[in-house]
Amino acid sequence: MPELPEVETIVQGLKTTLSQQKIEQVRIYDSKLAKMLAGKQITGKRIVNIRRRGKYIIFELNEGLNLIVHLRMSGRLLYQQNERKPLRWVRAVIKLDNGLLVFQDRRRLGVMELSRSDDLNCRLGVEPLSPEFDSDYLGQKLAAGKRPIKVFLMDQAIIAGIGNIYAQEILFAAGIHPRRQALSLGDNEIERLGEAIRNVLRLAIRHQGTTVSDFQNADGTEGNFQNLLKIYGREKEPCLICQTPIKRIKQQGRTTYFCEQCQK
Ligand SMILES: [Zn+2]
Repeated sequence: MPELPEVETIVQGLKTTLSQQKIEQVRIYDSKLAKMLAGKQITGKRIVNIRRRGKYIIFELNEGLNLIVHLRMSGRLLYQQNERKPLRWVRAVIKLDNGLLVFQDRRRLGVMELSRSDDLNCRLGVEPLSPEFDSDYLGQKLAAGKRPIKVFLMDQAIIAGIGNIYAQEILFAAGIHPRRQALSLGDNEIERLGEAIRNVLRLAIRHQGTTVSDFQNADGTEGNFQNLLKIYGREKEPCLICQTPIKRIKQQGRTTYFCEQCQK
């Protein structure tokens, strides 16, 4: 599933090409999506800005409307200058004055909805790369957290944008065991965790995200942070720091990789 760095990469890719373009036609090929957009008219609206909030892509349209997209497991937004031969798994095509935005989604779990106000802010916690995210905020939230730290990091209502892959990379970078209770972290560990969150996410954005299965940028290119993953998917391989074989456990049904020597 695309996480913050992948969604940021998509937004940056779409921003320059799509800003100020007018929506000329919306074609929907999927009943679930048709239901989400039922009765909402976006034809004729202009895209004023495109931005990211957590793992959501927000198309700000004129007249205060927001078209919000969440790609979930396998969604892709692809920009095409000209209509090409039909792709598979297309759920919607938005025809703009200069090109097409294709929503392709193999597993049909992605979401596309319209909202008038920015109600995402009520659902989502702080942005980890914003000034609001500091040790005070992190420390205060951790102190109230009885869940394992990995589960805590993936809670979108606390920090927006971190998912299964980056939570593991962050904990390895911070040297913290994924099963540690959130409230058990000391001041130094909180400091280290905050730094790891910022560093890992920034580095992943610089490398245009991670492509492990479905992620593609809006122009069809893939990310390359998968070559820099230090812990994710490396079961039984030697830890890059201490050479101990990397372990794999399950947490809330999701796989977690970690090094029992380096992560305490
Ligand atoms: Zn190690």
